[in-house]
Amino acid sequence: MAMGKIHELSSVLADQIAAGEVVERPASVVKELVENSIDAHATQIDVLVLEAGVQSIRIIDDGDGIADEDVLTAFKRHATSKITSRADLFRVHSLGFRGEALPSIASVADVVLTTSTGTTGTSIHYRGGKLLKQAPAPLRQGTDITVTDLFFNTPARLKYLKSAQTELANILDVVNRLALSYPEVAIRLVHNSKELLKTAGRGDLQQVIAGIYGVQNARKMVEINGKNEDFQVSGYVALPELTRASRNYITVLINGRAIKNQQLTKAIIKGYGSKLMVGRYPIAVVDLKMDPLLVDVNVHPTKQEVRLSKEPELAKLISSTITDRLADVNLIPSALQNL
Ligand code: ADP
Ligand code: MG
Repeated sequence: MAMGKIHELSSVLADQIAAGEVVERPASVVKELVENSIDAHATQIDVLVLEAGVQSIRIIDDGDGIADEDVLTAFKRHATSKITSRADLFRVHSLGFRGEALPSIASVADVVLTTSTGTTGTSIHYRGGKLLKQAPAPLRQGTDITVTDLFFNTPARLKYLKSAQTELANILDVVNRLALSYPEVAIRLVHNSKELLKTAGRGDLQQVIAGIYGVQNARKMVEINGKNEDFQVSGYVALPELTRASRNYITVLINGRAIKNQQLTKAIIKGYGSKLMVGRYPIAVVDLKMDPLLVDVNVHPTKQEVRLSKEPELAKLISSTITDRLADVNLIPSALQNL
């Protein structure tokens, strides 16, 4: 029989191709790894970054850890502990579920992961998709992962990286939004030994907002609450006097996941009516809870884009919740003094 010309790609090559989508830049590595720590029920996550993540990204958590017998599998593509069945895909409760981050990152970088469940401890070293070493490690509960030499074997990707300042800004943005999504997790970001963010992990969203945007600004934000039969809206939005020149200060969370959605962002702005000047945008953290059946997170590998059922209804609820809340503020100016 003649040899065909079609053949399956090696798993290393397939992982590198997947990495093209999942691991765009250092901030993507930070996002994927911190999400893994959160999914592993970590209460404390340290993100230690050198030279905007190009030199090194280290994430230390106190989460569940990975059992010795699972460590190799964790680095296989489409290997996950988070979903099992097709039905699970429609009710995703974790941040991850595609089983792509670890193999993707390991295929384009040098990765050393040390992990312990408390009963087993393992250390594993991958470089460019190749397993270099696996050895027993101490039983320190949690996972400690260090990623160096990112994109060493994908020169085009390396070249595409922006200035250190831009890459760091992206990392900060990712960590800020994760901190806003999980006030109950103590998250620390350190860059070149300078601490850029530290949250207390006490579950107080307002405190996290103060840590990111400053205490003065946090005082100029009001709590919102609204709901209908399908959706629950909560969070904090800035008074109209506190604005920014970009929409970047608006964070929309759906079931604990920071997402990008034009319509919902517009709905937040619409809630201010004529109270905002043209080209000015509020600082806002809008936390949305809904049945996972109403949101499809399996639209894009990075999961920042989602498809929503009943999006117009949700947009209306967001706008009216904000409009009503800001109307209250105008009626009782004295309330401002107590904020
Ligand atoms: P996904 O998050 O989509 O499941 P990943 O490639 O990111 O895929 O991770 C693969 C698996 O490795 C996860 O399902 C999880 O079981 C395990 N894992 C990864 N990171 C951690 C961590 N920090 N703590 C505990 N388990 C982890
Ligand atoms: Mg993951």
